[in-house]
Amino acid sequence: MQRSDSASPGAVPRRRSTEVAVIGGGVVGLAAALRLAADGREVLIIEPNVPGAGASYGNAATIATYAVLPVGTPAVLRSLPALLFDRASPLSIRTAALPALAPWLLRFAWQSPPGRMHRNAAAIAELLADAVPLWEELTTAIGAADLLRRDGCLYLYETASALRAAAWDTALRHDLGVALERLAPSEVAALEPGLPAMEGGAVFFPQAASLADPTRVMERLTAAATAAGVEILAAAASALERRNGGVHVTADTAEGGKTEVVAKTVVIAAGAHSRHLAVQAGDRVPLDTERGYHIEYDMETPPVSRPVCRVGRGFYFVPLRGRLRVVGTVELGGLKAPPNPRRIDLLRQGAEEFFPGLGAPQRSWLGFRPSMPDSLPVIGSSRGGRDIILAFGHGHLGLTLAPVTARLVSAIVDGRSNTPAPPACSPLRFA
Ligand SMILES: Cc1cc2nc3c(=O)[nH]c(=O)nc-3n(C[C@H](O)[C@H](O)[C@H](O)COP(=O)(O)OP(=O)(O)OC[C@H]3O[C@@H](n4cnc5c(N)ncnc54)[C@H](O)[C@@H]3O)c2cc1C
Repeated sequence: MQRSDSASPGAVPRRRSTEVAVIGGGVVGLAAALRLAADGREVLIIEPNVPGAGASYGNAATIATYAVLPVGTPAVLRSLPALLFDRASPLSIRTAALPALAPWLLRFAWQSPPGRMHRNAAAIAELLADAVPLWEELTTAIGAADLLRRDGCLYLYETASALRAAAWDTALRHDLGVALERLAPSEVAALEPGLPAMEGGAVFFPQAASLADPTRVMERLTAAATAAGVEILAAAASALERRNGGVHVTADTAEGGKTEVVAKTVVIAAGAHSRHLAVQAGDRVPLDTERGYHIEYDMETPPVSRPVCRVGRGFYFVPLRGRLRVVGTVELGGLKAPPNPRRIDLLRQGAEEFFPGLGAPQRSWLGFRPSMPDSLPVIGSSRGGRDIILAFGHGHLGLTLAPVTARLVSAIVDGRSNTPAPPACSPLRFA
């Protein structure tokens, strides 16, 4: 790493050059940086916060290889107008944010009819195919194999009519190669005895995996990247520009300092915060956010032993080390609005219905899924060339797809054609 132009000895350098600069140290940026360093590249991550502490820490911790359905489906499209008025629904929209959201919602509506929904589902299934083996490889490489669980995931349908209504969705997953088992209520009780009795049933996805502690995994990923030579610059990228054969990134530190990072290649991996950077690279992508929440209850032994989704409520019970995380729902409302206490209350009520006596949660959290209208990430070269690579927009699947994305980014940087970025993820698909 070449440094120059220090203001004075010991001061923050104002100019740095590197082979690859990765903007954003979430799970996607970290996994990509580690992979690029393993390829022998000089890598600098630009990240203003603790790496891995954004959406990548607070999620449902599930390597969700069964989640082939996009968010936009004919059923969701039909219910969109009603959602505007139902503040208790699993998918809610902040009315104040509607004008800003309108272009994204229109594209979302366009992606939701059966033909496009099926096409998007097939593309998502293709991306997901190697996610579990790549997570096995990654957790082994970073010394976190003990934190990857191979216990599957359970989707609960609490009433017989909910189970019947989900038949098409289960059939589509099956058609797309997802391993699944339909469970009667007695089989659900045998698998997860801590759950209350219900009349419906469940679908079990035996090949899904999950992380026992996403915070520890992010810490080990960060430590492994650093040990592999990746530098982390504590700053936020505010501008980028192609100039003189390199990409110049302006990075602002919390103390008000500025560093100019000059890189041969820049990877934009700032999750839900990537859009303004992509625009500066010449790429207009309809990235927005699906806000999601979690609450946590500290306990030695959570009442479930694997991620369990209350499908009708749109959230999961996730057993983590030393705590139960209740996590999910979707709120369309942008990056700036404060957390909505009603959404947190919905999670609390939903948890209490299943496990009375939980008391008050110890903590709550709001996070930002980086979401595209077709539920497919943006992975590929910028319109202006391979010197800027876009790697964001993973929506509900960023944790799952981080090592898959890292492999694709590495292939793009290398110019290899044996692992091409899927056209369905092209940054140009909305042009
Ligand atoms: C409630 C909820 C549940 C979820 N459950 C799952 C799940 O079970 N399985 C799954 O696969 N996915 C899940 N997800 C989605 C997943 O968490 C995200 O898709 C994933 O974390 C996105 O990773 P990322 O690295 O792109 O973004 P982030 O983790 O948000 O990281 C982006 C990073 O960029 C940094 N940054 C922002 N602006 C700048 C800038 N200007 N310069 C430099 N850095 C910047 C941020 O500080 C942040 O660290 C869930 C999400 C939520 C909210």
